[in-house]
Amino acid sequence: MPGRKQLNDVSSPPETIPIITVSARAAFRLTVAFMLAVILAFLAVEGWRTWRDYHAAFASARDSVTNLARATAQHAEDAIRQVDVLTAALGERVEGDGLQSINVPRIHNLLVQQARLMPQLHGLFIYGPDGHWIVTDKEVIPDPVNNADRDYFQYHRTHTDREVRIGEVVKSKSTDDLIIPISRRLNNPDGSFAGVLLGTIKVSYFVDYYGDFKIDDKGALVLALRSGTILVRRPFIASVVGQSLSDSAIFKRFLPVSSEGIAEVKAVVDDTERLYGYRALTTYPLVVEAGLSRESIIAPWRWDLFKTGFVLFFLISAFTVFGLIVLNQLRQRMRMEKALRVAHQSMRDMALTDSLTGLGNRRRLDSALEDEIRLATRQRSTLALIMLDVDYFKPYNDTYGHAAGDDCLSAVGAAISRAVKRPGDLAVRYGGEEFAVLLPNTDSEGAAIVAHDILEAIRSQRIEHSAHPLGHVTASAGIASGTPAERPLTPGSLINAADKMLYRAKQSGRDRYCVAAALAESSVHPGCTH
Ligand code: GH3
Ligand code: MG
Ligand code: MG
Repeated sequence: MPGRKQLNDVSSPPETIPIITVSARAAFRLTVAFMLAVILAFLAVEGWRTWRDYHAAFASARDSVTNLARATAQHAEDAIRQVDVLTAALGERVEGDGLQSINVPRIHNLLVQQARLMPQLHGLFIYGPDGHWIVTDKEVIPDPVNNADRDYFQYHRTHTDREVRIGEVVKSKSTDDLIIPISRRLNNPDGSFAGVLLGTIKVSYFVDYYGDFKIDDKGALVLALRSGTILVRRPFIASVVGQSLSDSAIFKRFLPVSSEGIAEVKAVVDDTERLYGYRALTTYPLVVEAGLSRESIIAPWRWDLFKTGFVLFFLISAFTVFGLIVLNQLRQRMRMEKALRVAHQSMRDMALTDSLTGLGNRRRLDSALEDEIRLATRQRSTLALIMLDVDYFKPYNDTYGHAAGDDCLSAVGAAISRAVKRPGDLAVRYGGEEFAVLLPNTDSEGAAIVAHDILEAIRSQRIEHSAHPLGHVTASAGIASGTPAERPLTPGSLINAADKMLYRAKQSGRDRYCVAAALAESSVHPGCTH
């Protein structure tokens, strides 16, 4: 409806409520952003810490397995070197004496003495070319015992090399212990096979040593031949001894490339994932592996993660609940503010609207007049005011009744609305059967056109009025205009001037409009027109 549209067009002093609403919305957004930022920061910090701890756990495990491998390698090398050195010296002596003319009691005493000095030693043995025992550190030689069936014996009989040989674990014929044979070939002066010199190391010696390390239940320490055959393993299971690791990743992939290193692999013996430190001994064909299970490495980390996760979950939940409460409050506040704004707006509309015609009321005109005069002063523009009054309205009421009079006023209001087309124009019901139209940026000439259109619109409605000389409802109008930048203008002076012209229009016979002389531009001749 044009009347309503105009009401909103000429705005009144700025409202305060929208500013509060914006801040509530901004506070809402800020709270959401803050909550997300805090939660993300929590997650980022904890995520980073967890990631760092995970890597730190593995870094520390890598150090551990490297050190373990180094220690066990050194230990194995020392233990074997002692037997190596001893058997080299003994071999030298026995060969020098000649195996046939050996002084058995003297050599026996020597072997007993040497065996006592070395805790790793299980026994020292000298076998003849046919495998029979010639002399040993043992007090009793079991009878009949022949070692020609032993792997190491057959090797030395068929190989002429003089190096010490480390064999696979066997069960001692004298004590039933599991032993690692360290053997050498003995030659006759002519270089022919004279027998074998054997030093045996107790598997239990290594088992005890490996047992002293503090590693987890699933950790493993392995001493194996370079061929892959296991000699000793912690945890010790007799059936594992003699198994081959030659198909394991470390023997297949890693050892051929590097004689020492770290590898994370699944053990072939027990299918456990471990981080292994491995090392091939430099002097002997032996390999050690020290492994910590992946499970034991990450278990403390996982427990820590669980605890942190729990605390984080609790914190984030509490924070979210708190945040949601705040957001809910803000939402309620926004809703309230919106309702207030709507109520405020409709109250404003109501306060400035005429309920009968839907046009603005007198208060609306008063406020708009002040604004428009101020604007016209600034812009050096002209503004015009049309005052309208329905002709012979008292007789109309008397003839048709007050209710019909109201309907007539409503129809007149609608006619005025239709005739007033520009968005900036404002039509109001000034009071009773009087109307006013404020036309910014309009001179008398323009206002006269609008007044003409309005009167014509009212006339053309042909509302029956039997008490009117013309037989239908008409109105009269008075027009005043001014350029406040040139001559000071007040709302009162403009209304008065238009009112005077309205009076003149009435005096001149009604159903016409009159233009003010005093305030009119020179181009417009004052006077009245239909
Ligand atoms: P004139 O042509 O000189 O204007 O004659 P008039 O009868 O219109 O003159 P006057 O101003 O004396 O009469 C106005 C009448 O309008 C008085 C009143 O009965 C009537 N009136 C004023 N307000 C309302 C209204 O809200 N509803 C109705 N139905 N009548 C109204
Ligand atoms: Mg009147
Ligand atoms: Mg009247």
